[in-house]
Amino acid sequence: HKYVYDFTEGNKDLKDLLGGKGANLAEMTNLGLPVPPGFTITTEACQAYLATGREPDGLAGQIEAHLESLERAMGKRLGDPQDPLLVSVRSGAKFSMPGMMETVLNVGLNDQSVVGLSAQAGGNERFAWDSYRRLIQMFGKTVCEVPGEEFEHALDDIKRAKGTHNDLDLDAEDLRGLVDTYKKIFLKHTGREFPQQPREQLDLAIRAVFESWNAERAVLYRRQERIPADLGTAVNVVTMVFGNLGPDSGTGVAFTRDPASGAQGIYGDYLANAQGEDVVAGIRNTVPLQELEQLDKKSYDELLSFMARLEGHYRDLCDIEFTIERGKLWMLQTRVGKRTAAAAFVIAGQLVDEGLIDLDEALHRVNGAQLAQLMFPRFQLDHEFQPVAKGIGASPGAASGTVVFTSARAVELAAEGESVILVRRETNPDDLNGMIAAKGILTSRGGKTSHAAVVARGMGKTCVSGADEIDVNVPAKRFTVAGQTVSEGDVVSIDGTTGKVYLGEVPVMPSEVVQYFEGSLDPEHIDNALVRAVHRIMTHADGRRRLAVRTNADTGADAARARRFGAEGIGLCRTEHMFLGDRRELVERLILARAEGERDAALAALLPLQRADFEEIFREMDGLPVTVRLIDPPLHEFLPPLEQLAVNVAVAQERGEDVAKEEALLAAVRRMHEENPMLGLRGVRLGLVIPGLFAMQVRAIAEAAVACARGGGTAKPEIMVPLVGAVQELETVRAEAEKIIAEVVGDSGVEVLIGTMIEVPRAALTAGQIAEAAEFFSFGTNDLTQMGWGFSRDDVEGAFFWRYLELGIFGISPFESIDRDGVGRLVRIAAEEGRAARPGLKLGVCGEHGGDPDSVHFFHEVGLDYVSCSPFRVPVARLEAGRAAV
Ligand code: ADP
Ligand code: MG
Ligand code: MG
Repeated sequence: HKYVYDFTEGNKDLKDLLGGKGANLAEMTNLGLPVPPGFTITTEACQAYLATGREPDGLAGQIEAHLESLERAMGKRLGDPQDPLLVSVRSGAKFSMPGMMETVLNVGLNDQSVVGLSAQAGGNERFAWDSYRRLIQMFGKTVCEVPGEEFEHALDDIKRAKGTHNDLDLDAEDLRGLVDTYKKIFLKHTGREFPQQPREQLDLAIRAVFESWNAERAVLYRRQERIPADLGTAVNVVTMVFGNLGPDSGTGVAFTRDPASGAQGIYGDYLANAQGEDVVAGIRNTVPLQELEQLDKKSYDELLSFMARLEGHYRDLCDIEFTIERGKLWMLQTRVGKRTAAAAFVIAGQLVDEGLIDLDEALHRVNGAQLAQLMFPRFQLDHEFQPVAKGIGASPGAASGTVVFTSARAVELAAEGESVILVRRETNPDDLNGMIAAKGILTSRGGKTSHAAVVARGMGKTCVSGADEIDVNVPAKRFTVAGQTVSEGDVVSIDGTTGKVYLGEVPVMPSEVVQYFEGSLDPEHIDNALVRAVHRIMTHADGRRRLAVRTNADTGADAARARRFGAEGIGLCRTEHMFLGDRRELVERLILARAEGERDAALAALLPLQRADFEEIFREMDGLPVTVRLIDPPLHEFLPPLEQLAVNVAVAQERGEDVAKEEALLAAVRRMHEENPMLGLRGVRLGLVIPGLFAMQVRAIAEAAVACARGGGTAKPEIMVPLVGAVQELETVRAEAEKIIAEVVGDSGVEVLIGTMIEVPRAALTAGQIAEAAEFFSFGTNDLTQMGWGFSRDDVEGAFFWRYLELGIFGISPFESIDRDGVGRLVRIAAEEGRAARPGLKLGVCGEHGGDPDSVHFFHEVGLDYVSCSPFRVPVARLEAGRAAV
């Protein structure tokens, strides 16, 4: 079995096997870009290791063979005392997991080869000892779990002793001393000397990369990002090149476009005389990439030309890690870069303009989750709010919250429902929990590529990084800025787009994208790259999609807003809201009615109110279908709670008041008490046991439609019967409804459809029968999930879903995204059998899933006609329906 691939053997499409980093290193190698030679150990080797706890047979031999050929190619041997070959050992999974997995640089250095390295570098002892101390530090921390702070403290101590903050002020002697100290730290924590055998270093490092796949924070990150747990990571062994050889060397990162805005230009950070992670970690302040032009014009020009090549090759924004060793540029990593939601849209539009991709491809480059992010509100700034600091807009959004300084405190306060802003000098992977809990993240150090920035962007969380006017004092739980002190518990606001930081809570305003959807920004006439790109891509999605998108709306105002957002009708108009407020009194009378006359009077009083509600909705949705669901919830939801009522009656009796009415109400509440109301007297069952209730609603709908028609409009009502499990239920309701409709509609030309929700599993399984009596089905996937799994939606999420997610029983709550295998199968069966019985049966979905990107793709696949979702999700559903169709 082949477990090891030379960089010349792979390519970018082998991400499953070689991981993203390895596949792209191979791709760059084959493009002829200067990549230091090396090889990749496959994810399969990692999977085998993790399954059995030891390296699979044959792996050691293959590594040996590849190492030998690398040594031959480089003309050096790993760790050779005179002229050592050094390598980095780098993790690289299929999906990039920033900061999660571990890398060890300078493998192959030991007490002898450090001398050889120095000699080979022209007697540059400082460089050699700096490299060695980095090896012990990284190896100790990531391979042997030595606490990283111990090394950092030792480094701080020696800097302090020298009176400097800059590691460049440490000379060879200082660094040699530091190596001694590091070795002692290593011995203390591991009980053994730092390993001197180069090959042992290599093997231990490879094994540590394998094992880091299951590190706690890697597991947590995967769960957050819904990355499958069994992929494993590849390991890349790469010849070292050195950015820490002096001022003519350095290391940097670059983006081919601005990952925050999508704007074209030169974006990146560079740090002279530095190695590896110094840039990302924010150890020293980087310079903007443009400044490299002054420092090393040849490398700069070359880098720019490679960037253009990579972008043309990948047809997308790429990010790049590079190192310059004494004026020679080396490419150490590239990948299709992460970007903000805004940049995703803008770049997709630009690439279409540049002829690199077509509009169908552009649709694949964006997604509904990004669009949803762009619909977040932004800060509304007037002169009252002046920024106190400006950092880098690392991840957009507007976040206000209580300042906290530790991950633990962030988690604590967030659990109490508070919005918190996590403030740190810089973040590291140990802060992940706090970052998840926080509403926003503010750091005083680090650029757009710092840990805080990268992770926050991935999470879609607001982040300002590198706000260096802020002086953070974590132990004292405060920071100072512009002469003011901000303590834990104070409120700040951060703008992840502009990088500005404000004291206090800044009010927010709607996003431009929402203004565009609302029709108040004309994309043809404003100079806003984002709005224009969104417009263009949405227009294409609308042209492509087969699914119609409707909205769930219960009021005229909601209907009007959803229509502006592109809704093509209402898929769910709930009528229960129409029984609340002042009307509760009438509902009480209806429920309490003993005689037919009392009940009729209550219904007669409700009729005109309902009719007016429907008229308003039909007017807003003129010409478009409106699905009205007959009353669904258990009636006791309209009555006062039992305890409160009992107390009131007792108090009134005490006072000697007349309590006949209250007592009747109390008796009714007792009579109607249900152990499992969601499985009790509700939906169609109400219509079958309370005479006249559905009839009144059907009449109100039909009369409202006729009134609209008389007024010159076109109402297209679709009456939906909830909770049907058997065709007989629907037939009974239908017979009564048809009579009323015929009588009301007369020759007005109004057409009223009658259909049902499919939300009880039995309905899905007998859909062929039910379709005989239904002109449409609307899948109520909330109840279908609830009853399909036997989960009480209101109870399970807090009670045990976390455990189910942790155990991987499901990767995401089935209430959030449809469970394709189970509940989805019910949908599929009902769609097929319903259509078989009644060709042309209209099919839609009105559960929460109608606005969930993944579920929209599923509904497209099973052939529904439309999805319906809340007004704000309508654009997301339009986009995803378009993406599903290309
Ligand atoms: P990450 O995935 O966290 O970025 P990497 O494996 O890319 O980890 O490595 C961390 C840092 O070390 C990066 O800055 C990378 O460019 C640098 N690095 C990795 N391998 C080498 C090498 N062979 N020579 C010089 N620098 C390297
Ligand atoms: Mg990297
Ligand atoms: Mg329901």
